[in-house]
Amino acid sequence: MNKPDEIKSRLQVNLAQLHSRIAAACAMAGRDATSVQLVAVTKTATVPIIESLIQCGEKHLGENRPQQLIERARSLVTSSDLQWHLIGQLQANKIRSVLPHVTLIHSVDSLKLLQRIGRIASELQLFPRVLLQVNISGEESKSGFSADQLRTQWEELCEVESVQLAGLMTMAPLTEETDVIRQTFRGLRELRDELQANGSNVELRELSMGMSHDFEIAIEEGATLIRVGSLIFEGCLPS
Ligand SMILES: *Cc1c(COP(=O)(O)O)cnc(C)c1O
Repeated sequence: MNKPDEIKSRLQVNLAQLHSRIAAACAMAGRDATSVQLVAVTKTATVPIIESLIQCGEKHLGENRPQQLIERARSLVTSSDLQWHLIGQLQANKIRSVLPHVTLIHSVDSLKLLQRIGRIASELQLFPRVLLQVNISGEESKSGFSADQLRTQWEELCEVESVQLAGLMTMAPLTEETDVIRQTFRGLRELRDELQANGSNVELRELSMGMSHDFEIAIEEGATLIRVGSLIFEGCLPS
């Protein structure tokens, strides 16, 4: 399947299913459906497919590589009010070029990186919103703050100027065990509540958690942003 019309109708079907699953999960959790924002992760899609996705009404797009985000933000610049989310590692040498394009950086994984973002944002007179990535599950393969690191560095993190700390992000382990996944997401929410209660004047509204295989659990545990890729593009990409 690769004709543009076929791709678009497949996307429409996938998106309709996804949005109804999001609505159902919100209803189950007693949450308003507007309290969860879908970030469509476009890292594996091509620009024409992303154009179809935009025509289907999606505006929040996520990329995990800064360079690809920049290139795509530039080539899709005629599509108005797109919101680009950086969800992957941000190298220091990419901060300056990516900042003008991003709505939200989900993946700030160290105090040093946040300080660098703050310095460059101040030079560029920008005020980026960022999330702190937390390695709740403690897997060695995952980047992010440990919960304890975050507690210890919390005051210093809050002091960084020219950035808006908007919440936390995590990834659950790749497992079929829903209890393990749920514990990870619940852990992120509890950590957020704990930090929030620590008297700082930042407001940690956002919880970025949940991907194609676990977004429903994430919604039940309080996700405000879900990052979904493969479910959206099922049947649309050359395999
Ligand atoms: C790729 C990616 C996603 C989307 O994963 P899917 O399983 O394709 O939905 C979400 N978050 C991050 C950080 C990613 O790199």
